[in-house]
Amino acid sequence: MDLYDTPAEAEFRSRLRAWLADNVAAEPEPAVLAERWPFMREFQQRLYRDGWVALSYPKNVGGQGLGLMEEAILSDELGRANAPTLLPLGHLGRPLYAYGTPEQQERYLRPLLAVEEIWCQGFSEPSAGSDLAALRTTATRRGDEWVISGQKIWTSYGGYADYCLLLARTDPDAVRHQGISAFIVPLTSSGVTVRPIVLANGDEEFAEIHFDDVRIPAANLLGRPNEGWRIAMDVVNYERGAVDTGYLSKFARYISELAGIVKAQSSSPDRAVLRELGAAAAGVEVLRMHCLRRLSDRISTARPGPECSIDKLLMTEVEQRLMNAASSLLADTDIDAGSRPQWFDRYLYGRASSIYGGSAQIQRNILAQRLLGLPQASRA
Ligand SMILES: Cc1cc2nc3c(=O)[nH]c(=O)nc-3n(C[C@H](O)[C@H](O)[C@H](O)COP(=O)(O)OP(=O)(O)OC[C@H]3O[C@@H](n4cnc5c(N)ncnc54)[C@H](O)[C@@H]3O)c2cc1C
Repeated sequence: MDLYDTPAEAEFRSRLRAWLADNVAAEPEPAVLAERWPFMREFQQRLYRDGWVALSYPKNVGGQGLGLMEEAILSDELGRANAPTLLPLGHLGRPLYAYGTPEQQERYLRPLLAVEEIWCQGFSEPSAGSDLAALRTTATRRGDEWVISGQKIWTSYGGYADYCLLLARTDPDAVRHQGISAFIVPLTSSGVTVRPIVLANGDEEFAEIHFDDVRIPAANLLGRPNEGWRIAMDVVNYERGAVDTGYLSKFARYISELAGIVKAQSSSPDRAVLRELGAAAAGVEVLRMHCLRRLSDRISTARPGPECSIDKLLMTEVEQRLMNAASSLLADTDIDAGSRPQWFDRYLYGRASSIYGGSAQIQRNILAQRLLGLPQASRA
C-alpha cells in the first residue's frame, strides 16, 4: 500500500482544496437542523454543479467517472476544510445504480446525486430493527400497481424526502428473508403520512412514515420480485463502510479543538482527562490505519461485504471514546446547558452511532457468524 498521492491524485487534491478555500463559508453550520438543512443542501448542490461529488458514479448516470481514491480524497479534504456535512444519500444511489432498470437509472439517479430530489431509507419498523426480516409492511400486486400498507420508523430525513427506498413483504408464504422486495415510493403519493420525531436536541431529523393503501406503478419495483433482502444488505454494507475518511479528518479536528480547550483551561490539567484524550487520539490513529487498509481492499473488490461491520464497529468505538473524553473535559463548562451546543450535539450523536446502520451487538454477531464462521448461540 502506497500512502502517497500519485501525481494525478495530488493534482486532483490541490484543485479540490482550492475550490473548498473559495467555497466553504467562514461561519459555522447552523446548529438547528431546520436551518442547517438548506445550508447543507445548497453547499452540496454547488459541489455537484462544479463536479466534486458523485465522483465514482459513471458519467452517463450523472457521476464523474472517477474512482474510490478520488472519493476518499474528497472526504478527506471536506473534513480538513470544515465543510458542511454532506447529506447521507450516497449509499441510496448505489442500489439504484446496481439494480435499477435503465429507465429507473435515467429518471432517478442524476436528481439524487445532484440533491435536487431527496431520498430516505424505509427499512426499520416498530418491531423490525435489528431483526429486519421481521418487517410487516406489505406490498400486493394489483394489475399495473403495487399497493403498500404498513409503517416505517426512525427514517432519517423522512420529513425532507421526496422518495423512499422501501422494503416490503411481497410473499407472505416465503421464508422470512426471501419474501421481501424493494420499491421506489414517491412520498407525495396519496395515503402516505409523514410524522416527524423530535430528537433530544430538538431537531426533527427522523420521521415515522405510514402507508395506507398507497398505490405505486408496477415499474417502481427495484430489482426482481423478492430480491429485496439482497438489495437491503448491499445498502447497509455501503452505509457501514469506513472508506469515508472524512470521519478521520473530522475526528482529528475535534482532538485538536479539545487540546486547545485543555491548554486554555489550565496550566496543570487533570492527568486522568489527559489520559482519556490521549487514548481517544490513539483510537483515531488506529482507525486511520484501518481505513487506509480497507480503502486499498475496496479498490480491488467490486462490492462491499460483511467485513464492513469491522469498519462500523471501529468507527463507533472511536467516536464514543472521543465523545466521552470531550464530556469529561467539558464537564465544568456545561456541555449540556447551552454554552457549548455543538459539543452537546456531537456527544448525543456519538451515542446514536452504536445504533444506526445496525447496532454494535448486531455488527459483532455478523463478524462472529459470517467472518469467523462461529455457530449461532442456541435460544434454549
Ligand atoms: C441516528 C439513527 C438513524 C437511523 N436512520 C434510519 C433510517 O434512515 N432508516 C431506517 O430504516 N432505520 C434507521 N434507523 C434505525 C436503526 O436501523 C435501528 O434503530 C437499529 O437497526 C436497531 O433497531 P431497533 O431500534 O429496533 O432496536 P432493537 O432491534 O429493538 O434492539 C434493541 C437492543 O437489543 C439488541 N439486540 C437486538 N437483537 C439482538 C441480537 N440478535 N443479538 C444481540 N443483541 C441484540 C440491540 O443491539 C439493541 O441494543 C436509524 C437509527 C438511528 C439511531
